[in-house]
Amino acid sequence: MKHKLIYADNAATTKLSALALEAMLPYLKEEFGNASQPYISSRSSKRALKESRIIIANCIGALPDEIFFTSCGTESDNWAIYGALIQQLPIVTSSIEHHAILRPCEYAANRGNKVTLLPVSSTGLVDMKILSRNLQEDCGLVSIMFANNEIGTIQSINDLANETHKKGWIFHSDAVQAVGHIPIDVHKLGVDLLSASAHKFNGPKGIGFLYIKKGLKWPSLILGGSQEKGHRAGTENIAAIVGMATALQENVDSIDHNSRHLKMLETRLLEGLRLLDVYYHRNGDNNHLFGNISLSFPFQTGEALLHRMDLLGISISTGAACNSETTQISHVLNAIGLDKTLANGTIRISLGKENTLEDVDIIISTIKKILSK
Ligand code: PLP
Repeated sequence: MKHKLIYADNAATTKLSALALEAMLPYLKEEFGNASQPYISSRSSKRALKESRIIIANCIGALPDEIFFTSCGTESDNWAIYGALIQQLPIVTSSIEHHAILRPCEYAANRGNKVTLLPVSSTGLVDMKILSRNLQEDCGLVSIMFANNEIGTIQSINDLANETHKKGWIFHSDAVQAVGHIPIDVHKLGVDLLSASAHKFNGPKGIGFLYIKKGLKWPSLILGGSQEKGHRAGTENIAAIVGMATALQENVDSIDHNSRHLKMLETRLLEGLRLLDVYYHRNGDNNHLFGNISLSFPFQTGEALLHRMDLLGISISTGAACNSETTQISHVLNAIGLDKTLANGTIRISLGKENTLEDVDIIISTIKKILSK
């Protein structure tokens, strides 16, 4: 391996921002006070908690009181589904959601909740008419992800939320892949609940949030102390919350610049492969997360490609990070109806803002080298 290690799995996780780390350090060292306590030693933590909530709310067009800190995107998603389960609301979701939604939905279904999985188009889009037809009851929860982690497809969240509201239902979006990468204004979008996770936008791991629209009463998932106004118990991880707020602000401030950079890298990668006569099928919709590139190579195995790329110093994925221990075709590729010979040979390259043209050129020549053998 002559080049430096190339990390191209940013949909799985991202590098912690240097600014975020710097902002976190005081709360891991001297400012360790419990934000719930009334004394002077806790003032700094309490202030940091308040300021971080304001920063995060501003970044997504929410009110500070609408942000509830959680331990990760999975917890935020579980909370959204759990709320519907406890209220015995029917749930309508899509067949390409992350397992953080699908597993709790299975749990809800096993407990007698009505759960409907909507099909998607060959590019991964939910059809508005199909959604509408499935909103039969007076009220329920619709949960549709903002951007898919495996193929990058971005849904028309605003239209889907409007349709959901027309039927009197509540709308949740798993925006774990979107927050910090696509401009988001929750009030304009009209979502009632929205999940996010810091480590997908250069924040620390183990921290996320759930946006809950003001006025919506949503049952708590984690019970205990009175943190988060009694809605999510547990002593707050102030350092992680500060890191999340700093990383989100940094990413939101450079969202246009980052998008342009990723689009340029993505175009280079696809054109580079084409110029070298490497045949591939690109998965996902035209409206997709820039840098999230799902490629299928006929009669190959994604697993073997991943390991050979790894041996040559490039970290990519075969699909969802959570699927890395199984060699089954992912539920997302099944749901878009991808032919088996293509699905088996699928890899996901997810470029991040730190990737360079040089990285992309090495990825192109490495793929060519592996496929030529
Ligand atoms: N939802 C989506 C779309 C994701 O991509 C992920 C992580 O890959 C999650 C939820 C889970 O987030 P976390 O890793 O913070 O639990």
